[in-house]
Amino acid sequence: MDRRNVKMPRDALSSAPADRASRIIRDIDGLRGPERLKALLTHPLTGKVALVSSFGADSVVLLHHLSQVAPATPVLFIDTQMLFPETLDYQREVAEKLGLTGIRVIRARAMHLAQEDPANTLHLRDTDACCDLRKTVPLERALSGFDSWITGRKRFQNGSRATLPIVEEAGGRLKLNPLADWTPSEIADHMRAHRLPRHPLVDKGYPSIGCAPCTSPVAEGEDPRAGRWRGEDKDECGIHFVDGKLVRTRAA
Ligand code: SF4
Repeated sequence: MDRRNVKMPRDALSSAPADRASRIIRDIDGLRGPERLKALLTHPLTGKVALVSSFGADSVVLLHHLSQVAPATPVLFIDTQMLFPETLDYQREVAEKLGLTGIRVIRARAMHLAQEDPANTLHLRDTDACCDLRKTVPLERALSGFDSWITGRKRFQNGSRATLPIVEEAGGRLKLNPLADWTPSEIADHMRAHRLPRHPLVDKGYPSIGCAPCTSPVAEGEDPRAGRWRGEDKDECGIHFVDGKLVRTRAA
């Protein structure tokens, strides 16, 4: 029997040894692309899995892989209500074109927004608190019930991602990064070969796309993420972990 297709009961998952990330990495050795993603989705140690996507500059490659192997997988899209309108249009276009049926739009609770950012200006005073309110807490709530989540992060994005493993333990869940070792040219080649739609802001100088107030165009030769929170000592929004810890300040 192919054990990749047999899921463990949840109590078995919780009692799995701390080195389960390295066991999974060993089991998927030699696989890439959709085959790697399928192996991660069906591995007995990954449990119930969601994919988290920003529908940003190159998100479509991972989403295309998903459409090939498991198009009904839950895809969590965090709408901070501060995104570019182009991102919202692109999200709908990609989901429809690829036939992704598990899209779940995640937002902060209206009550929290009214209490903590009634004028939508928190990002001007405290970007960490704003990311916490609009991204980290809603995502943590949406991830309850999932054992693992898939991200589209890549090592070439540098910063804290330069040494990104394909599988990591983080905050009691597994984080699966199936494109961690992909290069910019592999991403571009895949998009060209499969005629995948590009985010419209890429051609306007945005190689990395987040919320509109906190994303600026990037000049030739700059780091691809240099336009994110430009001028601040910050290169992650808090939905990812620092030294294996979830950074958040309020209950989900
Ligand atoms: Fe707020 Fe900017 Fe973070 Fe978006 S990226 S949640 S606007 S601080």
